[in-house]
Amino acid sequence: MRALTEHQLRETLVNASAEERQRLALPADFLFVDWDHLDFYAWRDPRTKGRGYVVAEVGGTATGIVLRASDSSSHARAAMCNLCHTMQPGDQVTMFTARKAGDAGERGDSVGTIVCADLSCHENVRLAAPLAPNEYRASVDRRIDGTRHRIEAFVERVWEP
Ligand SMILES: [Zn+2]
Repeated sequence: MRALTEHQLRETLVNASAEERQRLALPADFLFVDWDHLDFYAWRDPRTKGRGYVVAEVGGTATGIVLRASDSSSHARAAMCNLCHTMQPGDQVTMFTARKAGDAGERGDSVGTIVCADLSCHENVRLAAPLAPNEYRASVDRRIDGTRHRIEAFVERVWEP
């Protein structure tokens, strides 16, 4: 994806209040982000507990959403992240909700899904062990494409009027 500055990242957030946009804090390694290799950019706010962000290019435009993590993690032994489709220990996935953008959000509409707790889907889908011994490169690529597609679809659901 195209490189974004801190200011631009704040501006991409479609469902954030002015205060949330102001409070956004970037991870310590932000300056080393390799944008050319990213399909999307997601991180947990290092200063605000329970806050996370996902920025993806939707229709060629960088579009970001602010997410809230639920306090309790899953009690299941293992659970699947709905975005990258990797299996994680139960305490490493969390329910994230995003207030919808615009009027719908003001009425209290939100969208929620189970996601890797640290929002590192981009890495996790690449690190995940093959699902089957005969899984080959093309299927890994499909999972990477699928992750990108699901992230963009999730951002769009939050954004849609
Ligand atoms: Zn994930």
